[in-house]
Amino acid sequence: MNYEELLRRTAAGAAPDTAEIARLLQAPDEAAEQALFAAAYEVKKEYCSNLVNLRGLIEFSNICTRDCLYCGIRKSNRKVSRYQMSIDEIVAAARCAGEFGYGSVVLQSGERSDPEFVEQVTEILRQIAALPWDLGVTLSCGEQSPETYRQWREAGAKRYLLRIESSDPEIFARIHPPECHYRDRVAALERLKTAGYQVGTGVMIGLPEQTWEHLAADIDFFRRMDADMIGMGPYLPQDDTPLGVQHPDLPGMAEQRLQMALRMIAVTRLVLRDVNIAATTALQAIDPESGRERGILAGANVIMPNVGDVAHRRDYQLYNGKPDLDENSAQVRQKLLDSLARIGERPRFNAHGDPEHFFTRMKQR
Ligand code: SAH
Repeated sequence: MNYEELLRRTAAGAAPDTAEIARLLQAPDEAAEQALFAAAYEVKKEYCSNLVNLRGLIEFSNICTRDCLYCGIRKSNRKVSRYQMSIDEIVAAARCAGEFGYGSVVLQSGERSDPEFVEQVTEILRQIAALPWDLGVTLSCGEQSPETYRQWREAGAKRYLLRIESSDPEIFARIHPPECHYRDRVAALERLKTAGYQVGTGVMIGLPEQTWEHLAADIDFFRRMDADMIGMGPYLPQDDTPLGVQHPDLPGMAEQRLQMALRMIAVTRLVLRDVNIAATTALQAIDPESGRERGILAGANVIMPNVGDVAHRRDYQLYNGKPDLDENSAQVRQKLLDSLARIGERPRFNAHGDPEHFFTRMKQR
C-alpha cells in the first residue's frame, strides 16, 4: 500500500497497526506531509468541531521533589528561585481566566505530595468552584496517591494531565532518576481513570535516541490507555539540566523537532479522533510567530494561554526559549486571538470544551 492509500484508509476510520503508524509519521515528501495535516484537520472538524478550546494556564509553583533529567525546575537545579503562589493569587488568576471567557483553567506545578500541599490544592479547587464562572479545572501536579486524586476530584477538578513522557521503558529510564519508575507512572494513569477524571497523557518529541518507531509506539500507547486528552510537544534542551548538557542542540534540530511534533499531532488525531489535543507552548518556543497555530492546522484543538502574574514566569522555565516571558495575561490573550484570526480559526468562549471521547468511554464501562 502506498502512503496516499494508507492515509486515505486511516482518515476514513481504519485502525492502523504500530508499523503503519510509523509509516504515516514518515510522510515521504512535502506534499504527503501537507496531505497528512489536511486529513487530520478534517477529522478534527468532524469529531471536535472547528472551534479552538482555551484553557488559562496557571503555573502555580515550581517547587519540586523530583529530579527529572530534562526538566528546568528539577529539584537539583540551584539556579531556579523557587516560588509558590498564594491561594489568593491563584484564585485571582482563575478569575482572570473567567473574565477572559476561557471557560477552563489548568493548574500546573512541580511535584509535591506532602499533606500541606495536598490541602492547599484542595482549598484552591474549592475556591475556584465557588467563583461566579463555571470553570472546567484541569490539574497537572504529577503522581499522587489514590486518596489525593479522589480528594482533588471531589473538590472540583475534572481533568488531569500526566504525561508518560515516553512510552518506551528504556527511554523513560534514561531520562528519569532511578527512583522514578515507568510502572508507577502507568499505575498513576490508571488511578486517575478510576477516580473519574478526564485523563490526559503525552510525550516529549525528539528526545535523544528516540526514533519514529518509538513515536509510533507512543501513539499506540495513547490508544491502549484510552486517553481522553493528549498534550505533547517537542523536547527542548534546558541548559541547567543533565540531559540538556549531555545533548546540546545542534543548528536545525529545533525546527526538525517542531516538524516531528506537528506530524505526531496529525497522526494522533487520525488514530484517536475524538480526543482533545493541545497545541503546546513548546511549539511556540521554537516558532514564536506560528508554532501553536501550525499545531491547530495539523489537528490540535486546544491552546493553553498563560493567565496570572508575569512575576513568576521566568522561574517556571521547563526548557530554553519559553515565549511571552514579559507579557501580561491581557497581552497574551490579544496576541492569541489575533493569531487565531490570521489563520481563520475561532476560539470557543465560556465553555468547558470537554473531549467527546470521555463520554464514550464512560458509556462503555
Ligand atoms: N510536575 C508535573 C507537571 C509539570 S511538567 C508533572 O511532572 O506532570 C509538565 C511537562 O513539561 C512535563 O510532563 C514534560 O513533558 C514537559 N517538559 C519538562 N521539561 C521539558 C523540556 N526540557 N522540553 C520539553 N518539555 C519539557
